[in-house]
Amino acid sequence: MIYLDYQASTPVAPEVARAMQPWIEDKFANPHSPSRGGHEADAAIEVARKQVESAIGLKGGSVAFTGSATEALNWALKGTAEKGRDRRNRIITVATEHAAVLDTCEWLSERGLEVTILPVAADGRLDLDKLAEALDDRVLLVAVMMVNNEIGVTQPISAIAQLAHENGAAMLCDAVQAFGRFDICEGPDLVAISAHKIHGPKGIGALWMRRGHEPAPLIHGGGQERGLRSGTLSPALCVGFGVAAKLAQERCTRDHDHVQKLWRAAQEALGSGWIINGSVHHRYHGNLNIRREGIDATRLIADLRDIAFSLGSACASGSGRPSHVLKAIGLDYREARSSIRLGFGRYTAEQELAEACQRLTRAAVEQEKLHA
Ligand code: PLP
Repeated sequence: MIYLDYQASTPVAPEVARAMQPWIEDKFANPHSPSRGGHEADAAIEVARKQVESAIGLKGGSVAFTGSATEALNWALKGTAEKGRDRRNRIITVATEHAAVLDTCEWLSERGLEVTILPVAADGRLDLDKLAEALDDRVLLVAVMMVNNEIGVTQPISAIAQLAHENGAAMLCDAVQAFGRFDICEGPDLVAISAHKIHGPKGIGALWMRRGHEPAPLIHGGGQERGLRSGTLSPALCVGFGVAAKLAQERCTRDHDHVQKLWRAAQEALGSGWIINGSVHHRYHGNLNIRREGIDATRLIADLRDIAFSLGSACASGSGRPSHVLKAIGLDYREARSSIRLGFGRYTAEQELAEACQRLTRAAVEQEKLHA
């Protein structure tokens, strides 16, 4: 199997698996209990927290662990609305955000919050003038992702945060696809991340919160995570997340250079006839979302079962809905149906990527011949 679905999830780093092992097999004490084992587990969690905070690199805040980035985003949006809705009652977000943001905003709008969803240009970028026009003194929160999970396009997060702050609003950044690949931009007050996108385990995410911007708790109970997010933490998952974050930080340049090499190799091997969806320049180059006139991407997936890649037209959040992102950048139904997403990174070999791309093009040409 050639694995080209890095935006969906990344292979667990061997260093991560090794570090988690003792916390799965032997060290089972509750990290919140006062026993010696409990203290040891708690200390390991605090090391992991520091590792994640250091990889985020922002000052003036701290991280709370969550069960996923989806939970972190739900918490950030609902908890901020809960805390501030007497003062301000509007949220601004963008049409290409992840379902974890858009569906939560819809849920909030059904409960009386005013939600503005800004469009993007054909390259997938937000027009800052449109954001400036939309902002007013009723806006509580502006939520924009740093790197899009479907098309890899980046947004100018610091400029967005500055505009939000000038209007007295806070800023939430979904940095799930950016964390470990780019430096997290200065400016956001809340940042959501996920371990399984950086070669860590599934089932753990985190919310970085600037001091004073902690959302109201969503999950009540034992008062863990400073009373902000109750529930017994998993030392194994926290340790795995910490090691994955440390590795990503240490290997940042090396991983980046490797991805640049893969990006060039993929395009060379694909040859002509493919169009890149979204901006080529304002983009994470480990995401190649492409389309080809007239082909049926579902058939490509069926023809090439030993290559793991995603349909461009299916919403990458796993909801099975059609892609709201491709629609937002102006693609029609046929163009969306002829789109695929190739995602690669640290453990992708140049050779296997080139082979997969050549086979993709051959299969696409076969389809074209059938329709000619
Ligand atoms: N935000 C983005 C941009 C994502 O790509 C994903 C996962 O696909 C999420 C949020 C949700 O992350 P998790 O799988 O940790 O819930």
